[in-house]
Amino acid sequence: MFDNRLSALSLRVLAMMAALAAPFLVLAFYYVDAQRDAALEAVRRESLTLAKAIAHQQGIALQQTKAQLTRLAESHAASEEHAACSSRMQEMAQLGPHILHLALTGPDGEIRCASSAQVAGARLDDRDYFRQAQQSGRFTVSDVLQTRFSKIWTLVAAQPIADSERLEGMLIASLDLNWAQSLLDSLHLPADSIVSLSDATGRIVARTPRGDDLVGREILEAASFRGAIATASEGWATSAGLDGVARVIAFAKVPEANLYVRVGIPTAAIDTVERRAQRDGLAALGAAILLSGLLAVFLSRRLLLRPVRQLTQAAQRLGEGDWTVRTGFTERNHVMGLLARKLDELAAYGQSITRAFRTLSAGNRTLLRERGEQALLDAMCRTAVEQGGYRVAFVNYLRHDEAKSVETVARYGHDGGFIDSLRLTWADTAHGRGSVGTAIRTRRPSIIQRIASDRRYGPWRNEAIRLGFGSVISLPLIVEDAVIGTFTLIASQEDAFDAPEVELLDEMAADLSFGIKIARDAIRQREAEEIARRALSHDAITGLPNRASFLRQTGEAVAAAARRHEPLAVLIVHLPNLQEVYDGFGHDPANKLVREVAGRLVQLPGIGAGVARLAVNQFGLCLPGMTADSAAQAARQIQTCLREPVTVGVAQIDITASVGAAFYPGHGDEAEPLVRRAAIAARDGARKEAFYFVYSGATERENPERLALAAELRAALDRRELELHFQPKFDLATGAACGAEALIRWNHPSRGFLAPARFVPLAEETGLIRTMTGFVVDAAIRHQHGWVAGGRALPVAVNLSAKNLYDPNFLDSFRALLDTWGVPASLVDIELTESALVDDPDAARRVLHRLRDMGSKIYIDDFGTGYSSLNYLVSLPVHALKIDRSFVQQMQQSREAAAVVASVITMAHHLGLRVVAEGVETEADRAMLAGLGCDEGQGYLWSKPLSAADFEQRYLKG
Ligand code: C2E
Ligand code: CA
Ligand code: CA
Repeated sequence: MFDNRLSALSLRVLAMMAALAAPFLVLAFYYVDAQRDAALEAVRRESLTLAKAIAHQQGIALQQTKAQLTRLAESHAASEEHAACSSRMQEMAQLGPHILHLALTGPDGEIRCASSAQVAGARLDDRDYFRQAQQSGRFTVSDVLQTRFSKIWTLVAAQPIADSERLEGMLIASLDLNWAQSLLDSLHLPADSIVSLSDATGRIVARTPRGDDLVGREILEAASFRGAIATASEGWATSAGLDGVARVIAFAKVPEANLYVRVGIPTAAIDTVERRAQRDGLAALGAAILLSGLLAVFLSRRLLLRPVRQLTQAAQRLGEGDWTVRTGFTERNHVMGLLARKLDELAAYGQSITRAFRTLSAGNRTLLRERGEQALLDAMCRTAVEQGGYRVAFVNYLRHDEAKSVETVARYGHDGGFIDSLRLTWADTAHGRGSVGTAIRTRRPSIIQRIASDRRYGPWRNEAIRLGFGSVISLPLIVEDAVIGTFTLIASQEDAFDAPEVELLDEMAADLSFGIKIARDAIRQREAEEIARRALSHDAITGLPNRASFLRQTGEAVAAAARRHEPLAVLIVHLPNLQEVYDGFGHDPANKLVREVAGRLVQLPGIGAGVARLAVNQFGLCLPGMTADSAAQAARQIQTCLREPVTVGVAQIDITASVGAAFYPGHGDEAEPLVRRAAIAARDGARKEAFYFVYSGATERENPERLALAAELRAALDRRELELHFQPKFDLATGAACGAEALIRWNHPSRGFLAPARFVPLAEETGLIRTMTGFVVDAAIRHQHGWVAGGRALPVAVNLSAKNLYDPNFLDSFRALLDTWGVPASLVDIELTESALVDDPDAARRVLHRLRDMGSKIYIDDFGTGYSSLNYLVSLPVHALKIDRSFVQQMQQSREAAAVVASVITMAHHLGLRVVAEGVETEADRAMLAGLGCDEGQGYLWSKPLSAADFEQRYLKG
């Protein structure tokens, strides 16, 4: 396609050449024609001159005759006697070379005497010439005659002899035209030329060359000759001749006679000359045109088409996005070269920009892909070399040591040991004034465009030149406003980094910095999460799994036992006198004792692996496959290992322990009741001073007291004996009350105020919880309505149990109550325990989203006691975590507990959640929590739960 276009261009050049040559051709033809005309003209003139000269010569012969006859006439006496006359005539006839006869006539035309006897006595008065001479009285010449016998062409001249008006006689001379022939014979003429003498009718009397075929060689038809001489006595005609030879024919009249000389010179010579000129000229011209045409095509190919082709091809490839293309022009002075240079510059610019863009975008993909810092650095260097086409890429981190040293932490590309030989520093010394040190000190990209000639590169120049490095750029990596190092790229070319490329690379370095920050943050977050996870699943003092973990593990073990139809034992080790140790010796010695106990339990062969710490003075063991017999054996093992006293400081402390047991399936088929019942057995055993005690109580479901209480609760709900108390929450930054939690109270007619722990689990078990929560939500919204109307309201949180969350009617009735009382959902928040969210995650997620969409905030209650996955919690639309009060209350006594609280706060903040601390009882707790960045606090420090009236009085008035 492109070559088609080029050959079209070639054709055009040829056409142009042809157009240029055309006038020359015309000129050449014209010139040849003019030459021919001139040659013809010359031949004509020449032939006419010749004709005239010959005519003149012929005329002279006649003149001589005339002069002779005139002289004769003057000397003649008419009376002369015949004999004398005749001899005189003979004499005279000898004198004229051409005279055949000479005679004298009388006036009547009768010949008186003659040079020859033949003609004597003849009469001539009937002859034209005689009459003409008689009338004119002048010398007259006859037309051409042929003698009767000898067939000689003759002329007859008559000269009258007059004596004062009277004609006395006539001198008659008969002239032999052979003289004319001999005259013609003496001419030297070009080949094929013909000269003839003829009379007015065209009869030829003499001719050269001679020949028998005179008629056949006649040169001009008599008729056209007669036509020609009718109008002029001399002139030209052209004839093809009867012999087929083209000639120019000139004719001229012989003076005094009716004779004409005709000279025919062939034009063939001219034509030959002309043709040759034409042929040669055309050949020369043709050759010239061909040559210049070829030259033009060659030159146009060389100077025009080839450069144009190179340029177009280069432009085409540029258009296709191939920036590596160069025109390859070395001649840069002419226009084409200028264009080529511009194109090359454009390509170089495009190449550097696309290279930088490619590197940048590949770098961005790398950022998205790589998580770890080292992987990110490695990938970034590789990207720069593989995608960006740089020779070498490396990352340096700086050290804040005395030598201000610089360490290479990632590299890519073949550097031939160069990087390791650099001995870089970021101090302002010779080894610190290269691009890396400069970029670190100035916090700006540092570029060395020509390694070979830049003085700053002195220490490394020779090695760099040997490796073929042209230029280098170092870009500072800035994380959290501090320079941490540099990203360095080496290119083979000099001047490789122009302004737009530097800008893009700087952006890339900024992205890399950001990636490093993200990677570091992620590590920090993972560490925080790990701490939190561990804190949430492990006991801070002993490092053993905590209650939540133990419940989870036990749950799994129970499920496995159920599948295998095997028994399972849960043992609880209770240390009844531990509180006395804490009180008497202080925390640290007591903690030491706890760790000692834990250590001994863990080392128990066969059973120690699953030990957990469930409460301050409780350890638990979950023992799959164990029956009552083997459990008793295990209990003895435990007792044995605890018999040795523990040395705390200088004191030897005896450890009192009781072991309680509960069995699957006899005492329950879930972890929680098994653990609870084993703990009850352990406490009961301690009370009864039994060291091993198996749970023996009836199940709670069958407990008549509980059943009675459940019936009472039902009646109490009907009679509205329950009421809400409110405990305010405080913003730890400002100290202002920022919300309240609604807590249910049962004002029992005979037992007084009952705490929720006494009846809420019962309500859940007996299905009364729906009615109860209905009452709580209704009461909370009514109070809120009053407070909103009073002009001052704080958000109030209500506690939901898991059963409420999965109640399909709950959301509708909640919505309806809000609408009925005109209370915005943003003033009624929801508290839910982690465990409430794990039974049916999809349903939980649906309900939470609807609550959030309505405007209620969601708090995760008792955070830390459950064992749900953090990832799952974070995926829910949760507003805040409430750290369980057991953590808050431990945090003053143990650094580990404090670390847990701190890491929960950090982690929650990372996840974008607020944190509320429960059970804040002391100013020290508050200060510590505020220091850790906890958002809100709730606890006896500020206020116990208050009746609605008290709460309104204290927090919503004034
Ligand atoms: P919760 O949701 O963790 O409620 C906070 C409990 O901690 C309340 O106990 C409160 O009186 C207590 N508390 C507050 N500040 C302090 C403090 O500084 N120190 C100490 N030691 N305790 C503090 P309460 O009122 O006995 O409630 C116990 C649990 O009963 C609640 O724990 C909640 O799980 C449940 N509950 C209470 N009201 C309702 C309710 O309306 N519906 C449901 N489903 N459960 C409720
Ligand atoms: Ca609560
Ligand atoms: Ca709580």
